Amino acid sequence: MSEVSLKTTRLVMSVVDIREETDECKTYRFVSALNQEIFPYKPGQDVKLYFDTPLKKNDFRLYSIASSPTRREYMELTIKSEHGQFAPYFLAQAKVGDQYVVEGPYGRFLSKPLKMIEEKKLDTLVFLAASSGIVPFRCFIEYAIDTGLDVDIWLFYVNRTRLDLIYRRLLPKLLEGYPKLRLLLNFTREHEISKPELYEVVYDLKDELKERIDFLFARRLEFNDIASRVENWKEAWYGICGGARFIAGDRQMGQDGMMQKLEKGGVERSRIEIDSYGTK
Ligand SMILES: Cc1cc2nc3c(=O)[nH]c(=O)nc-3n(C[C@H](O)[C@H](O)[C@H](O)COP(=O)(O)OP(=O)(O)OC[C@H]3O[C@@H](n4cnc5c(N)ncnc54)[C@H](O)[C@@H]3O)c2cc1C
Repeated sequence: MSEVSLKTTRLVMSVVDIREETDECKTYRFVSALNQEIFPYKPGQDVKLYFDTPLKKNDFRLYSIASSPTRREYMELTIKSEHGQFAPYFLAQAKVGDQYVVEGPYGRFLSKPLKMIEEKKLDTLVFLAASSGIVPFRCFIEYAIDTGLDVDIWLFYVNRTRLDLIYRRLLPKLLEGYPKLRLLLNFTREHEISKPELYEVVYDLKDELKERIDFLFARRLEFNDIASRVENWKEAWYGICGGARFIAGDRQMGQDGMMQKLEKGGVERSRIEIDSYGTK
């Protein structure tokens, strides 16, 4: 599993299940409509999803593959609206039984750390996700569960409020399935909430999982929030995924993104990889 597959294939896929994640985000499960094999891919890779919107025939957008390549019978995509020209229509119109063209795989996000893990050169991963930026990390963690990887994974997951949390039902399962996973949920626009309310955010949470979840409210994630938790942060490998502002900040506003925060904190550039979802 070390070389990234670059051969792209087109598949006709049927929607067999739709799960609501938030008001603006759904996860779609696809299976091959023509009994073709789903193409091989690595965790972190993307596909193009084609769809006729009212604005453009045969339009497409890139989506990270949400489900692990070890689960061969289906492929899941998690699609969030950014109020643009594609996702709002897909979310409103796509239904179980519909068929779509899916083309991939594309990209090489997360292939480097996977290779390093296979070569026993890495034992700590730090994943920094904003909103739908969680998707490639979900894929990687499912892959880690299925293949028995034995590395520490820290997932720092940033959202505005608890209503924006994608995978609220899945996160406890990932924690349960991968004992070396730690999770910090950062809600930038929430103020203090009580503990019981807090755990309702990630509902159905067993007591023993609670100690692997931490929360941060009413401010943005800073480098020290990472360094104070991840003991060997210098030797860790960092993946950042989300919109451009989360990754690179906002120069006009004088705000650093995660990239600058890590570099200013002392993380080597070669240990950071990004997957940027859009310009906002
Ligand atoms: C490699 C790659 C993988 C992606 N994987 C996913 C995924 O797994 N799930 C998912 O929901 N989206 C993903 N996206 C974004 C996706 O392609 C769509 O842009 C998104 O669903 C929004 O669609 P839209 O029609 O609302 O907006 P669009 O018409 O696509 O874009 C409208 C505006 O929003 C910006 N934008 C798009 N996405 C984001 C974002 N996440 N944060 C900030 N600004 C954004 C665009 O740059 C543009 O300015 C990915 C993008 C890339 C490049």
